[in-house]
Amino acid sequence: MIKKVDHIGIAVKSLEETLPFYTEVLNLKYLGTEVVESQKVKVAFLKAGETKIELLEPTTEESTIAKFIEKRGEGIHHMALAVDDIQERINEIKTKGIRMIDDEARIGAAGAEVAFMHPKSTGSVLVELCEKKEKGE
Ligand code: ZN
Repeated sequence: MIKKVDHIGIAVKSLEETLPFYTEVLNLKYLGTEVVESQKVKVAFLKAGETKIELLEPTTEESTIAKFIEKRGEGIHHMALAVDDIQERINEIKTKGIRMIDDEARIGAAGAEVAFMHPKSTGSVLVELCEKKEKGE
C-alpha cells in the first residue's frame, strides 16, 4: 500500500534563511519553490535520494504552518507517504477507525493529490498521503 516516504515536511519561518543549510551544508539538490495558495504556504523541495525534504514557510498568519510555528516552534511538521489510488486508500484507512483531516484528496504542492490523517489517530504524527499524477517520478 505504501510505496515509500515521499517527503518530510519541515515548518520554517524563512525559506531564505533555512535553505543554505540544506543546499550548502548538506549539499542537497534544490528542486524549486512554489506557492500553494490553498494552504497559504511557500514550499521549497530538496532531493535526498528517493525522498524529498519539503520546507514550508507560511505566507500569512492564518496559515496552519504559522500557527504550528507559533505553538511549537520551527521543526518537523509532517511525514508524507507515497501511495497509489489515494481515494481508495483514504476510504480503506477510515474503515480501520482512523480519523482523516481530509476525507477527500485535494491538490497540494507539485500538483500531487494529498490527504492528511488526524494526529490523534496516528500517535501524534501528522501523516500525509500523497499521489503523484505524473509518470516517471
Ligand atoms: Zn507534504
